[in-house]
Amino acid sequence: MAKNNWKIAKKAIEEYDNIFIFHHVRPDGDCLGSQFGLRELIKSNYPSKNVFVFGDNGGIYPFMKWDFDKFEDVDKKYFKNSLGVVVDANNSERIQFAQYILDKNFTKMLRIDHHPVDPDIKYDYEWEDAAYAAAGEQVAYIAMNAKWVISDDAAKYLYLAINTDSGRFNYEYVQKRTFDVMSYLHSAPNFKVWDINLPLSYRDERKVRFAAYVLLNYKKIGKVLYFHVTKKIQKKFNLNENEANDVNILANIGDCKVWVFFIDQKEGWIRARVRSNSVWINDICAKHKPGGGHEVAAGATIHSKDEMKQILRELDEKVNEYEKQNK
Ligand code: AMP
Repeated sequence: MAKNNWKIAKKAIEEYDNIFIFHHVRPDGDCLGSQFGLRELIKSNYPSKNVFVFGDNGGIYPFMKWDFDKFEDVDKKYFKNSLGVVVDANNSERIQFAQYILDKNFTKMLRIDHHPVDPDIKYDYEWEDAAYAAAGEQVAYIAMNAKWVISDDAAKYLYLAINTDSGRFNYEYVQKRTFDVMSYLHSAPNFKVWDINLPLSYRDERKVRFAAYVLLNYKKIGKVLYFHVTKKIQKKFNLNENEANDVNILANIGDCKVWVFFIDQKEGWIRARVRSNSVWINDICAKHKPGGGHEVAAGATIHSKDEMKQILRELDEKVNEYEKQNK
């Protein structure tokens, strides 16, 4: 069930002079694209407002400009009459620099998100709708309905968000609205999808070799495929934990229903990225805390090899239940 609609986000943005936008930890194209896309939209449509973006792109999508603001450099006067905006995220543990929010620096808080989550932060304004393919689609939808002007930069950021989170318009939630919004992005004077598609399509040779290795060495329990990206493997392919993470290398192979990447993290825990083409897996991820996400695309925190085996067993059981019910 959706919480509110685009109008509440527009109202919140219009009410405050100073706007601070946050993205989630381990950023992706959607949280970064919707964050910067929203910044560009506010700059073009409400030029008297001040907009700041906090975070770090972690080296991803280097062909885009990621000019973040630094909290230490922001004059305290901007915290008066201010709105903190969280895009594509919810709980404090999922937000990069959540401490600035928890320290109550902002007058009010807005959340624009397509994850079905009841967050621990008290948002004053919330638009949550899990039927959107991307938070970037939500931001572009606000722009389309509010008839905001779209600059080339805003269109590029929002397209990056929509393209990456929808698996290039591949996933279930892609619908007419997604293409209406895409059409609206083309009202920017010189926006062309090719300008983003081309740099997105370049393939890093290290990642290609890694993908080949994964495809030859993945393991299987029933219809659950998995691969453990150990530290040794990261070293072998000269990829770090954020680079050797493309779980969809294992997507839809044979009759599989679920596929999982376990990625060793520097700090010692194991990040699980779980995907499915049919079975809902976010409830299982939520049990391995902190964990959760979308129905068929979620993540979990794993602390040991035993817990790894445990989550695989749970996923296998869920697949078996699903198959019994859908015979
Ligand atoms: P990822 O595998 O990191 O791309 O995550 C897939 C989806 O699950 C994203 O929408 C995340 O917001 C969500 N997710 C991933 N890890 C966690 C976590 N530890 N806790 C809650 N949600 C998560």
